[in-house]
Amino acid sequence: MMIVMRETATEEEVEAVVKKIEQAGAIAHPIKGARLTVIGAIGDVEQDVNLESLGLEGQPGVDRVMPILKPYKLASAQIRHGERTVLDIDGRKVGGEHFALIAGPCTVESREQTLQTARIVRDAGVSLLRGGAYKPRTSPYAFQGLGAEGLRLLAEAKAETGLPIVTELMDLRDLDDVLEVADVIQIGARNMQNYPLLTEIGRSGCPALLKRGLSSTLDELLMAAEYILKEGNPSVMLCERGIRTFETDHRRTTLDLMAVPILKELTHLPVIVDPSHAAGRRDLVLPLSLAAAAIGADGVIVEVHPEPDVAVCDGPQALLADSFAEYAQAVERAAALAGKALSAV
Ligand code: PEP
Ligand code: MN
Repeated sequence: MMIVMRETATEEEVEAVVKKIEQAGAIAHPIKGARLTVIGAIGDVEQDVNLESLGLEGQPGVDRVMPILKPYKLASAQIRHGERTVLDIDGRKVGGEHFALIAGPCTVESREQTLQTARIVRDAGVSLLRGGAYKPRTSPYAFQGLGAEGLRLLAEAKAETGLPIVTELMDLRDLDDVLEVADVIQIGARNMQNYPLLTEIGRSGCPALLKRGLSSTLDELLMAAEYILKEGNPSVMLCERGIRTFETDHRRTTLDLMAVPILKELTHLPVIVDPSHAAGRRDLVLPLSLAAAAIGADGVIVEVHPEPDVAVCDGPQALLADSFAEYAQAVERAAALAGKALSAV
C-alpha cells in the first residue's frame, strides 16, 4: 500500500501515519518528494489486508491510500509519483538531469596503473572512479584481484584525485573493508540475485550500483533492487551490462539498450549502462556509450587502461588512456542531446 499525504501535511501527521503502520506490524518507508510525502507501507500479503482496515484514509494529512500495483514496491515508479531519484555521491549527482561518467580500470593491478588511470580520468572530468579489488572471474585460475591491497590503492587514488570510488563486493566477509573505501558498492552481474549480499548492502546504507544478471529479466533486476531498498537504503542505481542471447559471435553479450527506457518507465531509480562488458570490444564502447546517452541513460561505466595489451583483465575492451579525454567529450555531447549535464564537482 502507499499512503499519499497532502501537500500541506505536517511532519507530525506523517509521523502519526508511520506509527499506525508500524503498530500493524508492517514497515513504513516515508519518501519525501519535492511536493509531497508518500509513505510506502510494506508488509506481507496478509499484513496488506490488515493495513486496509487501519482507516488511514480518514487520518489527518492523508490524501489517499492506494495499492502499489507492482511486486517491487519501493522500486516502482508509482511510489515516487513520477519524480526521479537523484543520488548524491560525495557531491556528484546521479539521475534526473545529471549524467554520471564512471571510468577506471577493470581491476586494480598495481599502484602505478591505478594512479595513472585515475589521474587521466580525473583530468577528463569523470564523475566517479571505478576499479575492482575483488574480481568475479569465470576461471578460478585467473587473477582474482589484489583484495585488501587493491582497496588500499583505491583509497590512495581517491585521496589524490578526490574522485569517489565504485568498487565491487563479492563476499560479505569483506564488507567492512570495502565500506572503508567505497562510495558506491558494485554488485556484479553474477551476484545480482545473491539476496543475503543485497540485504547487507541495504543495511549498510552505502549507495549501490546493481548490475543486471546475464540472464535476468528486468523484473528480476527490480526485485533485486527491492532487497536493498527494503532495508532502508534508498541509494540504488541499476546497470544494464549486456545479456546472453543466441548471438555469441563478434561480441561478448548483447547490450539491451531498450532496457533503459523500459526501466525508466517502471522505476524512479537511475539507470547506468556498461558498454565495456556488454561488448568486450574497445571499438564498440564509444558508439554504444553515445547510444546509451542518447536513449536517456543516467550514466555509463567504462573501463580504461594505460596499456591494454598487458592488462591482467579485460584488456580488449579497455578504452585507451591516451584518447580517453576525447571519448569523454563525445559522451558529454551525447548526454547534452538528451538534456543531461555531466556530473562533476
Ligand atoms: C566489472 O564491472 O568489473 C564486472 C565484472 O562486471 P559484470 O559483473 O557486469 O560482469
Ligand atoms: Mn572488467
